[in-house]
Amino acid sequence: MKVGIMGGTFDPLHIGHMMAAETARESYGLQEVWFMPSHIPPHKHEAGASGEDRLSMVQEAVKDHPAFGILDWEVVRGGVSYTLETVISLQEEYPQHEFFFIVGADMVQYLPKWQGIEELVQRLTFIGVGRPGTPLDLGLLPGFIAERVVLADMPLVDLSSTMLRARAAEGKSIRYMVPDAVFDYVQRSGLYGVQPRSAD
Ligand code: ATP
Ligand code: MG
Repeated sequence: MKVGIMGGTFDPLHIGHMMAAETARESYGLQEVWFMPSHIPPHKHEAGASGEDRLSMVQEAVKDHPAFGILDWEVVRGGVSYTLETVISLQEEYPQHEFFFIVGADMVQYLPKWQGIEELVQRLTFIGVGRPGTPLDLGLLPGFIAERVVLADMPLVDLSSTMLRARAAEGKSIRYMVPDAVFDYVQRSGLYGVQPRSAD
C-alpha cells in the first residue's frame, strides 16, 4: 500500500495543506494520506494552539475524506520531532507500506537542512507541490536529494498558518481559507484571539 505522510504544524490547518494532500494522492495513486501534526516546543508558539487543539482540528477536517487519516505520534511523544525517527518507527510498524512524504516548495528547498536527510531519502520519496514565495526548482538541490523528489501539480495557494493566525488576531475572517470544520472549531474554541461566537 502506498501511503503519503502530510507533516506540518497545522496551526491552523488550511486549504493549502488539504490541496497538497489531495493533489499528491491523486497524482501518485496513494491509497491513504496520513496527516501528521508535529510537536511544537512550548517556547516556539506563544500565539499558537496546543497539540491537542491542532490534532482535533486535523481530525475534524480529514474525517469526511475516505483516504485521509491522522497520525498523532509526534504530538503524543512530545519533545523535538525528527522526521527520520518517526519514519524509522513507521517502517517498523508498517513494513509492507511504501511511504511518501508530501512537502510544499519552501520545505523542498529546506530539505538539505533536515536532520538525517541522507538516510531519509533512502527510506521514502518526497512529493513536492508548488507554493508562492519559493521556486519549486529541483536543480537547486544536491543531486542525491533531487533524484528522490517528484512533483505534483497543484494550483498555487497563497496562504500560510502564520497569515491566518494574524488575520484571526486582527478580527478578520478566515472562513473558506480553512476547512469548514476548522473554521467552526476555531470559532467555538476561541483560538488565535478569535472571540468565541456563533458563526455569522
Ligand atoms: P506556518 O506559517 O506556521 O509555518 P504553514 O502554512 O507554512 O504554517 P506548515 O504547517 O508549516 O504550514 O506546513 C506544513 C507543510 O505544508 C509544509 O510542507 C508546507 O510547505 C506545506 N504548505 C503549507 N502551506 C502551503 C501552501 N499554501 N501551499 C502548498 N504547500 C503548503
Ligand atoms: Mg511553515
